Amino acid sequence: PAPLLRKPEWIRVKAGSPSSRFYEIKDILRANKLVTVCEEASCPNIGECFGKGTATFMIMGDKCTRRCPFCDVGHGRPDPLDPDEPDNLANTIAALKLKYVVITSVDRDDLRDGGAAHFVACIERIRQRSPGTRIEILTPDFRGRDDRALDILSAAPPDVMNHNLETVPRLYKQARPGSDYAFSLNLLRKFKQRFPNIPTKSGLMVGLGETDDEILQVMRDLRAHGVDMLTIGQYLAPSQHHLPVRRYVEPATFAMFEREAYAMGFTHAAVGPLVRSSYHADLQAHAAGVA
Ligand code: SF4
Ligand code: SF4
Repeated sequence: PAPLLRKPEWIRVKAGSPSSRFYEIKDILRANKLVTVCEEASCPNIGECFGKGTATFMIMGDKCTRRCPFCDVGHGRPDPLDPDEPDNLANTIAALKLKYVVITSVDRDDLRDGGAAHFVACIERIRQRSPGTRIEILTPDFRGRDDRALDILSAAPPDVMNHNLETVPRLYKQARPGSDYAFSLNLLRKFKQRFPNIPTKSGLMVGLGETDDEILQVMRDLRAHGVDMLTIGQYLAPSQHHLPVRRYVEPATFAMFEREAYAMGFTHAAVGPLVRSSYHADLQAHAAGVA
């Protein structure tokens, strides 16, 4: 096994005392049996995000049909879709008065549409209950059946379309078995072609064994496929059974990625050790003219 790298100073999260809003949100989530990525992934930004009225919800269950070795989500045979989930989600978002929500899901390779129709049902219900709430979806790759998924999404497109590449193409086989770099880029490109006014967004992790140059090349690929917004954060292994952290990227390198991102034409780049795909999503959308 690879030696465990010591976490550098800049990766440790400042412990603040969570706000009362944080506890209020947790209580309402429990009562409605909804799962947030914020809690499941032990996201280091949870106090800040919940405090501001932003959260990332995971729909379509907690069992993924894929098994990426960096990811802490459970895998296995998924449960059938819960037809009440769109209503529960919309009611909860309304009760919490959330201003900006990110809706994401496990991969559902077992469903013919990859779950696209369920995303649409959730978006429609949220819009009915909370017309002022901005909705970002962070989707799976729909297994390359992107035309079909985009047909379905056109009934209720999101305010922001996010799909993460996660890592560089050389590491896909190891880190993203069952996924395909080109499929993912094409999904983003085709979404942009259909909905030119809706910002697209993608995210990467660093620390899985990639080089800086490979990250820069992925950024250029994203721009070549019309992607507007970028997130880059440090990979933190959820346990010793997950892929090891190969390096902790230094703050100066994150700053370089950020400068390069704006030079390449991204409208917003959230780049830093603790950045997650949905970190400051509300601010990014604002920068892109959505919020
Ligand atoms: Fe949740 Fe994303 Fe904020 Fe983390 S960064 S707490 S996952 S909304
Ligand atoms: Fe995790 Fe997504 Fe991979 Fe499923 S497809 S294991 S949810 S990263």
